[in-house]
Amino acid sequence: MSGDCDFGLIGLAVMGENLALNVESRGYKVAVYNRTTSKVDDLINGRAAGKNFVGTHSIEEFVKSVKRPRKLMMLVKAGPAVDAIIEQLLPHCEPGDIIIDGGNEYFEHTERRVKQVEEAGLLYVGCGVSGGEEGALKGPSLMPGGSADAWPHIKEMFQSIAAKVGPNDDIPCCEWLGSGGAGNYVKMVHNGIEYGDMQLICEAYQLLSELGGLSNEELYDVFEQWNDGELQSYLIEITRDIFSVKDDQGGDGFLVDKILDVAGAKGTGKWMSQLALDLGVPSTLVTTAVFARGLSAQKEARVRASEKLNGPAAASNPELQAIAKSLAGNKAELVEAVRQALYASKIVSYAQGFVQLQAASAEHGWGLDYGAAALLWRGGCIIRAQFLDRIKEAFDEDPNLENLLLNKYFEDAVENCQEKWRKVVALASVMGIPVPAFSTALCYYDGYRMARLPANLLQAQRDYFGAHTYQRTDKEGTFHTEWLDLR
Ligand code: NAP
Repeated sequence: MSGDCDFGLIGLAVMGENLALNVESRGYKVAVYNRTTSKVDDLINGRAAGKNFVGTHSIEEFVKSVKRPRKLMMLVKAGPAVDAIIEQLLPHCEPGDIIIDGGNEYFEHTERRVKQVEEAGLLYVGCGVSGGEEGALKGPSLMPGGSADAWPHIKEMFQSIAAKVGPNDDIPCCEWLGSGGAGNYVKMVHNGIEYGDMQLICEAYQLLSELGGLSNEELYDVFEQWNDGELQSYLIEITRDIFSVKDDQGGDGFLVDKILDVAGAKGTGKWMSQLALDLGVPSTLVTTAVFARGLSAQKEARVRASEKLNGPAAASNPELQAIAKSLAGNKAELVEAVRQALYASKIVSYAQGFVQLQAASAEHGWGLDYGAAALLWRGGCIIRAQFLDRIKEAFDEDPNLENLLLNKYFEDAVENCQEKWRKVVALASVMGIPVPAFSTALCYYDGYRMARLPANLLQAQRDYFGAHTYQRTDKEGTFHTEWLDLR
């Protein structure tokens, strides 16, 4: 038996409730279910009152109320809850039905579930959803992957609820990404890039406020200007807004200055770093950003260390002051140099993200479409930014582009920024300001553009102490040397 709902949604927390309202607003009839069933009643009698919803109080009732092939989406806590719900759904579903997980799930769990659900004759989709509460309601970025046969069934609905971009606002930020856990992986890399972007912006903030002496009002103006150019993005825009918000607890000054400098994290950045290590690809921006959050969390230790450890005595050292002055110039010059350092570092961060996607796609056989991934991040999501159009164009020009840095547009962009970028990293170093993301991005750029790195010596060391062997530049084969005998 099946009902007349076009779509079913399980999990009425922030994301599920808003996504269900979004789907209904596009003309679909939606069945909803939540483990704590009072939330179903709250929705039906509240925000969904008078709308085309069916509230259900058991999994069986939920499944039966949706048309076949059923499109049943979960937006619940990732992990065991998803497995538990799949187990509850399967006995009531019929062949061809589609189970969709919209959570921030680890991609290997989705790979396993695709197999499990397909073996039961159904289809399974792991769909990254980005954009938070507002995106879920008004148009998220959707990153679906899994059972390819599911795509024709869900394409129209998913593209209708997704964010739209392009000159006519008609290109949906939702495309099929590939098999298995491809959608979750792309969402994870999105989140990892988000970590990098946020860390870069925080480093720019520290340089401009501590070295440049910019007030929050001035920072607002700087981010406003930046948001008009190459750096235009959601994160630059919200950062601008943050600098205008006054303390809401009755104190003087700005709220941002009252916030404890201890960063939280939910783990997707860590996953991306761990998987980069497994793949052997240097995604240094996300890894640095994860560690930077870790260091921020050691607040008490930092406070103790701040009382003992000295940085450069720049204020009292005329030589350091002279270097700083020659590097920083005046406020306007510093702002422009930091903008260029931010832009170049951001390009490196995205380049690394795509290299990791390429390596993962090759390893798992997903056949990922990189241009599509860039397009999906163009709207609706947290890293949405103007320059993602350029990334899409780069992969349209060459779908096998080895590294974004080798695309002419990005090559020129980094080339134009590199002098200022180097000055900013040098200045930060001279003045003792930590800029781990700016500097790791620069080190990656310099390492990547070196035809020869000092790894020859490293190989010699490994062979010396562990007989690990080495290859030569002038002969084929594998060599081992008894190093002491040749001295
Ligand atoms: P959440 O806090 O992650 O999860 C709460 C929901 O999960 C509730 O509906 C809860 O039901 C249900 N749940 C938990 N354990 C369950 C179990 N064992 N069996 C059945 N249901 C269970 O909700 P959320 O913040 O809306 O996020 C949903 C998913 O979207 C997560 O994977 C999250 O990572 C992802 N996501 C969130 C955001 C965001 O901005 N919040 C953005 C993108 C993606 P009860 O009401 O019965 O407890």
